[in-house]
Amino acid sequence: MSMRRALSMRGAAMASCRGFLGAGPSATSSTTQQDFDVVVFGGGMIGSALACLLKQSPLTSELKVAVVDRNAPSSPSSSIADLPQVPDIRVSTLTPSTLALIDRVGADWAIHPTRSASFHDMQVWDQTASRKHMRFSGSGEGPLGRVVENEVIKSALQRRAQELGCEYASGGVKEVLAPRPRVGITREAGDDDDLCDRPSVVFEDGRVLSAPLLVGADGSESIVAKSAGIRYEGRAYGQRAVTCTVDVSRPFATAFQRFLPTGPIALLPVRGGRGNIVWSTTPEHARRLESLGARDFAAEAMEALTVEGGPVPSSSSSSRGGGGWESALASRASALLGLRGGASPPAAFEDPPEVVSVAGGRQRSFPLASKHALTYCQRGVVLVGDAAHRIHPLAGQGVNIGFGDCELLVTTIQEALWSGQDFSANLTLEKYAAERRNKNGAMIRSLDAVRALYQSESPYVEAARSFGMDLINGFGPLKQVFVGFASSNAAAADIRSP
Ligand SMILES: Cc1cc2nc3c(=O)[nH]c(=O)nc-3n(C[C@H](O)[C@H](O)[C@H](O)COP(=O)(O)OP(=O)(O)OC[C@H]3O[C@@H](n4cnc5c(N)ncnc54)[C@H](O)[C@@H]3O)c2cc1C
Repeated sequence: MSMRRALSMRGAAMASCRGFLGAGPSATSSTTQQDFDVVVFGGGMIGSALACLLKQSPLTSELKVAVVDRNAPSSPSSSIADLPQVPDIRVSTLTPSTLALIDRVGADWAIHPTRSASFHDMQVWDQTASRKHMRFSGSGEGPLGRVVENEVIKSALQRRAQELGCEYASGGVKEVLAPRPRVGITREAGDDDDLCDRPSVVFEDGRVLSAPLLVGADGSESIVAKSAGIRYEGRAYGQRAVTCTVDVSRPFATAFQRFLPTGPIALLPVRGGRGNIVWSTTPEHARRLESLGARDFAAEAMEALTVEGGPVPSSSSSSRGGGGWESALASRASALLGLRGGASPPAAFEDPPEVVSVAGGRQRSFPLASKHALTYCQRGVVLVGDAAHRIHPLAGQGVNIGFGDCELLVTTIQEALWSGQDFSANLTLEKYAAERRNKNGAMIRSLDAVRALYQSESPYVEAARSFGMDLINGFGPLKQVFVGFASSNAAAADIRSP
């Protein structure tokens, strides 16, 4: 069939596809169509990681992959001198499995020690003055995780995807066309099955990119999901996360998180010996925090990290070796969690470094919500990353579970190719969708439970919290959230009480 005829048929077929952005069918005389095997819509961290994995894996490397983003891919320099001196405020804590993925696809540029900061411990505690805390430590084989700026991760993955042969297309997108669900659709004479079954991205300048598989990696306001008629469940938390880079009194390698009644505050190490604060709180409080000057904000953050009816005394840090019931609890917890080193004495409480001042730009806030797609796939369309799930940042897992989506989606496509099946068929994609939706749904429910538990001021819940390790042992969601991060590389989970 000639390209001209294909395009004119495509125009008719588009009328039976579902579109979003712009109105009506888009095939015009100036249309230029390019066909791919996979079009990834959204070239952020997750879309670019998926593109890398597809081109890197032997069975999928021959697929023709395009990545669409409103912004042209950045061309990162390999020199540390070109990074801004003060790290950007948007950072992600990356788990060992994400670090392994980034390394495997050849984007290890992003996680080099000069561009990231490692943390070997994670310390979680609450607003009570009891100083009970949980502490997770690295196994000695490597850090518990690394903190990297989102821009750095994205740049490295984009550059690698291009090296591997992915085509990036940027510019204004007029509409995304996804095939309608088959159920309940009366087919009309003249509908072209093949063309309508191929999702397409139509640019304002007339370019059309189409493929049997369109991946929505366009974040939590996904237009791919809207085009495919995929709906979400979830809710706004009525909270905002205030974040900024800070100067601190000493370098540190612990990810600190303290739960306050208004939400958790986290202090994470970032490159250059600085810290990054993510402070989830009420919208009113967030607005006030955003309006504070650099030193006033630092003073409030310090107070939030230390004071509850008086600062946490540092003398408590090393005074207790941990024997008796504490050791027994730690041991039992470690055994239950399947972690090594359970018999070692509980680790001491570590005081966070002093937050001295906001560094670089001002503090900014982001709305927090949970959103979960009711299905991850729909006739030639599949969702990954925040397009499929948006979660609270308290566990530092959002982008990590997105990378997990990419791994399983690529494995699913590989298996289909290996067994001669259609990799874009719903039957194939549903294997990926069901497994990831289950797993990610459990994470979302766990986070909601942890939030509710830690933010409750009910004396009963506070009493329950004070059992600390017992709670972790007995309460699945808590275990899942905190151990989820550490699971692949942790040596010990300790609880300590005064
Ligand atoms: C305060 C805060 C702290 C966080 N901390 C962590 C953490 O420590 N660890 C962690 O794992 N996660 C964390 N997260 C979550 C993490 O940031 C997200 O999970 C991650 O950014 C999702 O990546 P993504 O590529 O799926 O989506 P996005 O980052 O939203 O990327 C979407 C891409 O699609 C493109 N796009 C969107 N719409 C269009 C369109 N119409 N046309 C063309 N292009 C389009 C965008 O330009 C962008 O490049 C945090 C989130 C917040 C809010």
